[in-house]
Amino acid sequence: MPKLASRVETIKPSMILSIAQKARELKESGKDVISFSVGVPNFLPAQHVYDAVAESIHNDKGVYLSSRGEGELIDAYINKLTRDGIEGFKQNHVACGIGAKHLLFSLMMSMLEKGDEVILIAPTWGSYIDDAEFFGAKPVIIECSAKDNYKLDPERLEYYVTDKTKMIIFNNPTNPTGMVYESAEIKALAEKLEQYKDMWVISDDIYDNMIYDGLKFDHLWHYASDELKQRMVLVNSISKTYGMPGWRVGYLACLNETVSKTITALNANSITNVPAPAVAAATAALNGSHEFVKQQCLEFEKKRDIVMQYMAKDEKIKCPLPQGAFYAFPDISACFGKSYNGRIITSAMDFCKILLEEKLLACVPGEVFADNNGIRISYACSEKDLVEGLTRFIDFVNNIK
Ligand code: PLP
Repeated sequence: MPKLASRVETIKPSMILSIAQKARELKESGKDVISFSVGVPNFLPAQHVYDAVAESIHNDKGVYLSSRGEGELIDAYINKLTRDGIEGFKQNHVACGIGAKHLLFSLMMSMLEKGDEVILIAPTWGSYIDDAEFFGAKPVIIECSAKDNYKLDPERLEYYVTDKTKMIIFNNPTNPTGMVYESAEIKALAEKLEQYKDMWVISDDIYDNMIYDGLKFDHLWHYASDELKQRMVLVNSISKTYGMPGWRVGYLACLNETVSKTITALNANSITNVPAPAVAAATAALNGSHEFVKQQCLEFEKKRDIVMQYMAKDEKIKCPLPQGAFYAFPDISACFGKSYNGRIITSAMDFCKILLEEKLLACVPGEVFADNNGIRISYACSEKDLVEGLTRFIDFVNNIK
């Protein structure tokens, strides 16, 4: 029997998708499960997106498309950046892919050598960790606790950067905590990053439109020197903003042209191109009215408020106020060492397992995000499910003794 290559020996399935799958199976077996586990926005894109797809199918030319990405999609992304005050990008700085996840994977493949170190700010999205490890790099986790609002104090960086550090990933607003960095914090981080000339700075902007409480999205770009801008890569996608996670379109921009050129070559040798209907859909989403997106944000803000009302109902829960994305990340470590119905809870993993089995509510344990004290609640479900799920959650916590 031939063997698989050693490089895939350590590859792991996505824990979040496994939890979502388990919740789905329980539901299909007739159990009244509520899932707060997956990061899907739970709304459908606007009508102009569907119209553009219909037109693209009607006008199909039956050809392969550009491996970099079609010009109209690239222009739509550049125009989006310009609207955000992020200027200087031309078509040759951009490359598209099958979602941000694919581009992040390709970036790590392009940039990381075995033994390199990648700085991650925890709680952090689990795929960054898995991808870095897959390419033989070492994730260097900077733990930021609930009492620090899960945010990085840039002064801490110097204790973690070594001569092996090759990359840092900054995700704002943040999955899994919903934290949003304010301008002064972003500026301080940009100033610190100026020092590390051998470090790629990846800015994962996938939740950039999902910000509440009247806060404005700010970006490292606005405070970066010309030198820092050359080693920054901006990554984004249509998944969250436009309610299109399954359409699989992402894009990145870097002033250093070798980056987009390399990603284009990787595309040419793997996916060839983003499928035409998805290109049309993404272009229409980016170019279309954003009133719809604003409306969705108001809905999320309302749901965030409901989550926070419930989080305040038990002292064992400490939940910093999330102001973006659609996640809350309560610290539940006060429950460790206590038990529910005689079942002892020693970790976030235990907490989520017992919560799912006893209350049929699926959440994601903090271990997935390199934080052992919290759990992630994705509140992008219907308001009815949200209230029912939170009622179960708080009943569970109240009865942990
Ligand atoms: N980055 C972060 C922080 C995410 O939370 C996700 C998806 O959950 C992604 C990237 C991947 O997004 P996409 O659907 O564009 O691949």
